[in-house]
Formats: sequence, C-alpha cells, structure tokens
Amino acid sequence: MTTTRFAPSPTGYIHVGNLRTALMNYLIARKSGGTFILRIDDTDPERSKEEYVDAIKQDLEWLGLHWDKVERQSDRLDRYAEAADNLREMGRFYEAFETPTELDLKRKKQLNMGKPPVYDRAALNLSEAEKEALRAERGSGVWRFKLDHERIDWTDGVLGDISIDAASVSDPVLIRGDGQVLYTLASVVDDTEMGVTDVVRGSDHVTNTATQIQIIEALGGTCPRFAHHSLLTGPQGESLSKRLGTLALRDLREQGVQPMALLSLMARLGSSDPVELRSDMAELIDGFDITRFGAAPTKFDEQDLFPLTAKHLQSLPLADVSDAVSGAGVPAELAEPFWAMARENITTLADLKGWWSLCRDGAEPLIADEDQEFIAEAMALLPEGPFDGESWGTWTKAVKEATGRKGKGLFMPLRKALTGMERGPEMAALLPLLQVIRARG
Ligand code: GLU
Repeated sequence: MTTTRFAPSPTGYIHVGNLRTALMNYLIARKSGGTFILRIDDTDPERSKEEYVDAIKQDLEWLGLHWDKVERQSDRLDRYAEAADNLREMGRFYEAFETPTELDLKRKKQLNMGKPPVYDRAALNLSEAEKEALRAERGSGVWRFKLDHERIDWTDGVLGDISIDAASVSDPVLIRGDGQVLYTLASVVDDTEMGVTDVVRGSDHVTNTATQIQIIEALGGTCPRFAHHSLLTGPQGESLSKRLGTLALRDLREQGVQPMALLSLMARLGSSDPVELRSDMAELIDGFDITRFGAAPTKFDEQDLFPLTAKHLQSLPLADVSDAVSGAGVPAELAEPFWAMARENITTLADLKGWWSLCRDGAEPLIADEDQEFIAEAMALLPEGPFDGESWGTWTKAVKEATGRKGKGLFMPLRKALTGMERGPEMAALLPLLQVIRARG
C-alpha cells in the first residue's frame, strides 16, 4: 500500500514550487489507491504560524488536493525525544558546542586548504569534564548524528542511481541547543511510524536524504522510495528563489488562474509528457508517471497559466461559473446567452465585468469619417427587437443589399460602431445582448 505525504513548514504561504511537491505526492498516492498525508512540519515554534496552517489547507482545498490525514509534528515531540534517546544509547548521537562563528571559521580554513567544509567532529574528543565546563559556559550543546563513513546509495525515482560518500557530509545537527528537534530527525521518525512508502521532494533535499537514510537504518526503520524533482527556475533559467514569494498559490488565485490550469501545468511541466489542459483530476492521476520527469531544472513561466485558464473557462457550462456571471452584474435571464458569448473572449473570470459593461452601457462608437453615412443607413435598417441569434444575419443582409457593401467593408464598421473595438465576440452572439440597441430595437 502506498503512503505519501506533503510536509510543508507553516512559515509562509505555499507557492508553485511547493505545489509541485504536493501534487506529485498526491498523484502517486491516488494512482495506487494509497494514502496521502498532509504533515505540518511545525517543530519551529517561532516561525510556525497557525494562520499559515489554515492558508496551506485552503490552498490545497482550492486545488482539490484532498488529504486523508493531517499530522502535526508539534504533537509528536515525545516520539522524537524517544528516537533521540535511542540514538544516544547506540552511541550515534553526540553533543557539540561550537558557536556559529567558530563553525564558520573552521569552514573557511578547510576551504582555504582546498578541503570540503565538513564538520571535523572535534566534539567527539571532549571529555565529560570538558563538556561540563562548556555546558556551564555556553549552555546545552547541539546534538549531532554520527554518520557511518561509508557510501550511501539509493535508486532515486527521478535522479536514478545516487551514491554519496558520507565522509563528504557533516554529521547533521538533529537537536538544537535550545532543545528544538530539527526536521531531519522529526521527518525520519514520522516517515517510519506513519508507514510512508514514497517521499517526493525537491532536489535541494538530496543531501538530507543521504543522512536520513542512515538515521532510518540506525533506528531500525525501512527506507521509503525517494524521488527528488528538479527545482523550478524562471523562464530564462534564472533562479526563482527570490520570486517564489510572489508566486504564492493565493496570488495566482487572486489573478484569476483556475485550479485546473495550474494543476495541468504543474503535473506535467518538466516531464516528457506534453503540457496541455486536462479535463479533471482523474485524467491527471491516470497519466502521471514520475519516471517521465527529468533531472534538469524546470523552467516555469506564470504566463503559461493564462492561456490554460482561458481554455478551461471556455469548456465550462454556465452552472460552473454562475456566481461569477451574476457577480459581474449580468441579470439571470441573460446569463446563458451572455456566458455563451463571453466565454470565448475572456482570459480570466475578471474579464466578465468588462463584457457586461459593454452589453449594458454600449461603447464609445468607433466610426471613421468615410463610414458615417454607411453607419447611419445601417442603423436605420436595424430590425425590430427583441433580437435573437438570427438578428445579426438578417440585419447585415439587409444592409448589404441597401448599401452594396460586403465582407470586411460591411462587417468591420458595424463592429467598430457597436463595440468600439476592431476585434471581439461573435457579433451574432453579442447583438442580442446589447442593451442599448435592444432598447432601440
Ligand atoms: N518541511 C520540509 C520542507 O518543507 C519537508 C521536506 C520533506 O518533504 O521531507 O522542506
């Protein structure tokens, strides 16, 4: 049975990068009929905020990424303490007292000597008396996990065979001086106890995975399958790290991006499958295959979300957008023909307002000097209302006969006179909605 989890830290709003992780884990679980856990990684009491927990849930719900269970790391601190005790008993855990400045100095020295900046394990040589003295002077130390210096190998779901020399990695700090358990330990305890079978996360976690594999093994757990997806970059390949804050899911929602557009893009971007609008979650689940994703950084352009949003909206029946249509001010009796006209001509639902104001108030006519007479003649031929889908055809036929104009010379001046624009909706669909003309007709 497959169990996956999405494990955000509630220290901010989730963005497109987080979504990629959430979605992959979700799709894997759903595809195999497994369990998808939402795990709130809130071991940092200062930075974790309840409002972000709520916001993360809202954002996932908006997208239809429903979870089967919620877990919170802050509820499980005793489990982590027990694991820490076990590691201590095994001799795999040691207290170290270097200050950040001292560690920094050590790293600089190592780099100057052309060596990798790996923690030198000086704390392992401290006697009990020395530790006592340091504790008295500096308070409790941090607790580091003592890695076995051997190669750590795994077959990654995206990256393929990985082999990392543990000696090239610092012994990870799992508990801070103030007693706060760090994610590296908490995550391992959770993944093991919650029966997580597949962990998909960003490639910035590859080194964590190496150390976590040793921690899982030390604690007698079974390693999940790991897959590390590539990180997103901007359209030019530039780093997104600074911009991710502005690519929060709620900002995209605010801009009118539709869930299906976002899901369709994020579930396939960076894979060998084409990005195209999918009709529903079932289609996304069905076609998802993590092995089709590449290791290279993945270019993300938020502008790609808008054509997908437009296409999605085009496919919707009125029932799915009736709130937005009435919200734009469209009276119920016109909602159906209005939507049929407007859906072909919007990028987001926010554009409905503009089309309704055109229908309701008309537009400043755009009439070239040489068309003045023609327009006057045409307006005189406007048939009696009320208009229907046929009215435009009937009218323009009459105008054609009376004036001898045809094609573009016939239609374009009429369009510009009625809408103030050179391009826009099908005039046959628009005419019956133009309230000013209706009133005249
Ligand atoms: N809270 C971690 C993060 O947001 C989770 C990483 C993981 O999936 O293990 O980076």
